[in-house]
Amino acid sequence: LIVVKSIGDLKREPLNSIGFVPTMGALHAGHLSLIERAKQENDRVVVSVFVNPTQFGPNEDLSKYPRPFERDCELAEKAGADIIFSPSVEEIYPTNPTMIHVPIVTHFLEGEFRPGHFDGVATIVSKLFNIVQPTRAYFGLKDLQQCAVIRKLVKDLNHAVELIFCDTVRELDGLAMSSRNAYLSQSDREIAPQIYRILRLCQADLLNHIEPKLALSSSMGQLLDNGFEPDYFALVDWNTMSPTEVIDENSFLVVAARLGTTRLIDNLKLLG
Ligand code: AMP
Repeated sequence: LIVVKSIGDLKREPLNSIGFVPTMGALHAGHLSLIERAKQENDRVVVSVFVNPTQFGPNEDLSKYPRPFERDCELAEKAGADIIFSPSVEEIYPTNPTMIHVPIVTHFLEGEFRPGHFDGVATIVSKLFNIVQPTRAYFGLKDLQQCAVIRKLVKDLNHAVELIFCDTVRELDGLAMSSRNAYLSQSDREIAPQIYRILRLCQADLLNHIEPKLALSSSMGQLLDNGFEPDYFALVDWNTMSPTEVIDENSFLVVAARLGTTRLIDNLKLLG
């Protein structure tokens, strides 16, 4: 029973709240944690499973992206999903679609190494918000820059949705869960957790007042030594997603590195 004692509070308490978890499928425990949280906080939970073509670059893994749809439905239902929304690409995208570009927070990092990626993300998320009309939407901090992009998108375009950003779920060895981990060869899978270890070491260095430039270049070196091909390893302010040397509540270490043909990303809140 919900007791509401003012008009303002009644308006804030939708009678049928909808929690929304957008995904590209190939669900793992990270996705399921978002669905479980959405279930706790809403009357209904909608999970979208849509491999969004506009967020993939021409040389990326769109065609080989895993699509275990039946399994996804079972896992989502067990975690608390009421509706799986899995539309066709044809229904979602007209020819020559209108695309949304979010400035500033997309300039560096993923935005730099995956040109156009965040236009695809912003466009699909905005369309899905209009279609699903959720009360709350749940995103993983694993994709920190994506969270920053969506936060600005929602503010700038006045989407009437509350955003909930959720902690990264990791394997026991520290590797951040990702649908793309399935691409790793057995030997690369053993190396992959080094990313998180290097993030933690860098965090300790920075908290011990080692000069940021020095700490970051040492982390880059460790990635190379372990056989990664790093795209970036940086300290950023998550409001702008641009490099900083300031250590405060907004500082995150962010990393993207390729291991074989698999590209992994991860991040760590500095004062976590
Ligand atoms: P994706 O299917 O990769 O587009 O991810 C769908 C949602 O799940 C996004 O909000 C991701 O940030 C989130 N997510 C992916 N991996 C994890 C993880 N390891 N922990 C928490 N959330 C995650």
